[in-house]
Order: sequence, then structure tokens, then C-alpha cells
Amino acid sequence: TRSPVTVTVTGAAGQIGYALLFRIASGQLIGPDTPINLRLLEIPQAVKAAEGTAMELTDCAFPLLRSIEVTDDTHRAFEGTNIALLVGARPRTQGMERGDLLEANGGIFKPQGEAINANAADDVRVLVVGNPANTNALIAQAHAPDVPAERFTAMTRLDHNRALAQLAIKLGVGIDEIQRLAIWGNHSATQYPDLFHAEVGGKIAAEQVEREWLSEEFIPTVAKRGAAIIEARGASSAASAANAAIDHVHTWVNGTAEGDWTSAGVVSDGSYGVPEGLISSFPVRARDGRYEIVQGLEIDEFSRPRIDASVQELVDERETVRRLGLV
Ligand code: NDP
Repeated sequence: TRSPVTVTVTGAAGQIGYALLFRIASGQLIGPDTPINLRLLEIPQAVKAAEGTAMELTDCAFPLLRSIEVTDDTHRAFEGTNIALLVGARPRTQGMERGDLLEANGGIFKPQGEAINANAADDVRVLVVGNPANTNALIAQAHAPDVPAERFTAMTRLDHNRALAQLAIKLGVGIDEIQRLAIWGNHSATQYPDLFHAEVGGKIAAEQVEREWLSEEFIPTVAKRGAAIIEARGASSAASAANAAIDHVHTWVNGTAEGDWTSAGVVSDGSYGVPEGLISSFPVRARDGRYEIVQGLEIDEFSRPRIDASVQELVDERETVRRLGLV
């Protein structure tokens, strides 16, 4: 058995929280040998509901779950935290302008960044799930100057998994036969799922599908999958989002397979024309507990304007939060 890891989950009483916590406590986040101390952060009016979830977690008698604490105190929530999953966010309500949404989320992610900076463990790793995830991650990171910027990441793994699944169905192959797929840009409708580096059976995936399927079906299906699930289920895609959060952290800690990569929103170093400092999705490898951007890929002319459009949206979001004084 390894030393215990403290995992903080915000918005713990929400839909994603409910799908996520039991899997963390059962050992799927890090691995089957690592005991977990859980910290659940909620807003005061949701603390009682989070306590109910904590009761159920207790009742599972998970061998790896050492402790659970529910709090509405942001500083306490991140004390000694090794892994922070920032799930709670201000939901977009009808008629709400993007600027208002970013401002409301600034009120959540700025104090959380400060609390992580002041209280978290030296090796803290942060995954932002709450939307708009990339820019919320940027806000939190901007308020944690003592934490290396690379420790703040945003989730595009669900988009990645959706793209893997759609491609597997199209080509009639198993998920494990696909390598090197990547999502670029923002976790939004502008995201770009790239099949020009993806390989199936050692051959480029984009060359195994019709160009029309790629542009008219694949890309919009992946980008609009969240809305399609709400339409079908009458509720959002909480379980697959929770699954992707587990995948993101598990890969971060345990690494990507040799020769393969995955997707995550990470701080740009200026690669591929993505302005430095933006938190954008890239093809990433995980090694020695770090995500690194895959370097040296050639970007074809189909992909270039699509990547640029999504990155431009991130630039605009950063401009908005700068004007609001949030970064
Ligand atoms: P969910 O648990 O369904 O979603 C939480 C966040 O995850 C939302 O921002 C949502 O974005 C985002 N998200 C990312 N990917 C997905 C996906 N594939 N499908 C669905 N959502 C996705 O929200 P609930 O309203 O059920 O719960 C939120 C909880 O957070 C509440 O209990 C609330 O009290 C809490 N909260 C806690 C805070 C804190 O701890 N300080 C602060 C704010 C809220 P989108 O809105 O785009 O669906």
C-alpha cells in the first residue's frame, strides 16, 4: 500500500459529483493500492446533500477510503490536497451573456485558486471540469502564483472519448485499435477533433473515412454530443463526464502508453500558434506524473483554420476575464 492521497471534489452534491465520488473511493482514480482521504466542498445550501452522499460512501465500506470530510470552507477544503477536481461552477442560465457567466465563475475560481495556493500539497494537481472549463482553469491558475502553472488543467477527455467512440463505430474497430487521436482548442462547440494524426491499424484515420463524413458528421456529432444527451435523457451527461475526469487524472498519474497520446487542456507554451499562457486542449503525453504537449506535428490545411477558430475563442474569453480583472 502507498501513502494516502487527499482528493478534493467541489460541487460534490451535484450530478457529476454523484457519479464521480464512488469511483474515486473505490480506487479507480489513482490505482488499487492508494488509500484516499476525500474532501467534499459545497456551497452552504448544498452541504446537507453532500453529507448524504458521504453517508452512502461510508456505507460502501470501501477498503481504500480512509476519511471523508464535507465542508463549505474553501481553505479547509484544499488543506494538504494532492488532487483537486473542480466540478462545481455557475450554470449557464437562459439569456445569460458570456461575460456574466465568466464573471460569476470568477467569483468561484478566484478564491479556489487562492485557497489552493495557500493550502494545497506541494505536488497538487488540479483538473477543472466546471464550465467554461478552460477559462475557469485560467482564472484559478492566475491566483495560484506559487503553484507551477502546468498543474492546472481543463477537461477535454470527454470530447476525446466521444471522438474515439464515434470513430470506432464508423470503422467497426475496437477502441484499443485507435491511437493518437487529439482534441484541440476549447471545450466548447468550436473544439476540433483531429483525425489527421490519429492512426487505426497503423494508417492515418482521416484517410480511412470520407471527407464529408469527417466535416459534416464526425466533427459536429462530437461537438454537440452534450446537447444530444440532454435531449435524449432529459438530464446532462454526468456519468460520462465523471468517467472522463477519472481517465484524465489516472493518465496524469500513471502515464500514457508508449507511442500513444491523449487530450487535455493544458497551459500553452506557444506551440502550434496557441498563445502562451492560454489553457487549450492539445495532444498530450503523460510521463513521470506530468502532462507534456506533443511537439513537432505538422498541421494540415483542413485542421489549421479549425484549430485557429477554437483558439481565437479562448483568446476572446481571456480578454473578457482580463477586462473583469479576474486574471
Ligand atoms: P453537474 O454536476 O451536472 O455539472 C457541474 C459542472 O460540470 C457544470 O459547470 C457543467 O457545465 C460541467 N460539465 C462539464 N462537462 C460536463 C458534461 N459532459 N455534462 C454535464 N456537465 C458537464 O451540475 P449540478 O448542477 O448537478 O451540480 C453542481 C454542484 O456544484 C451543485 O451542487 C452546486 O451547489 C455546486 N457548486 C459548488 C461550488 C463550490 O463548491 N464552491 C460552487 C458552485 C456550485 P454546464 O453548466 O455547461 O453543464
